[in-house]
Amino acid sequence: MGRYKVNAFVIRATRMTETSRVVTLFAEEFGKVKAVAKGVDRPKSKLAGMMELFNRIEAIVYKKESAELGTMSDASLSEGYPGIAENPWKFGFGSAWCEILDKTSHPDIPRPGIFTLTEEFFRILNQSESEKSGLLFWTALYRLLIIEGYAPEVGKCASCGKTEFKTPIIISLKRGGLVCGKCGDDDDTIMKLSSNSLDLLRRMNSENLENMAEESIDERTGKNAAEAILAFASYHLGLPRNLKSFKFLETLAD
Ligand SMILES: [Zn+2]
Repeated sequence: MGRYKVNAFVIRATRMTETSRVVTLFAEEFGKVKAVAKGVDRPKSKLAGMMELFNRIEAIVYKKESAELGTMSDASLSEGYPGIAENPWKFGFGSAWCEILDKTSHPDIPRPGIFTLTEEFFRILNQSESEKSGLLFWTALYRLLIIEGYAPEVGKCASCGKTEFKTPIIISLKRGGLVCGKCGDDDDTIMKLSSNSLDLLRRMNSENLENMAEESIDERTGKNAAEAILAFASYHLGLPRNLKSFKFLETLAD
């Protein structure tokens, strides 16, 4: 039995019994950690209110080396993001981020760069206008691809290095970025990109989240760029395209 102190984000919490939850944490030191928070929904529990999505907590988890599920004995709130939870758009995109962390993280494999990115994304999402949530989310996912080494090449043809492109601009999942007409010829993983969307991807590639939050993007450009980012995340990281949070966001848009 090991005792672990974790600095972690709550990325999922499901009810186990009337008063207990199974909580999935994204921990700075250990990657994904799942633990039972017993009695958390008793009004007098010292863990009450802490196991909410997006919260960053410090917790003590007891776990057998081989066990998938640990037990949480104590926790304190380090940082909350009420601005995300209170707004449906921010909540939708924040939840999508939690789903991505859940689906791409593993126990005992820390992801320090992604942990820092999550802190940055939640902090800026929390305080930004809700109309910026989508742009912030897709920029954060682009940055995740950079950290994982799968960001699309957006400067030159990923295959031959050519820097001039005829329209339509095409991007290849398999070749890892822009391809010229010749190199994309018999590639079955290509998608079309508008020149505005390519500009947007280039800015995401070089600007930080804070600066991107200042941008105004038209819907079509944003959508086209988002499709490319999701396709890359899906092709290279195995991220499912049908996240629950995306369905929730679609219902908001209707
Ligand atoms: Zn080429």
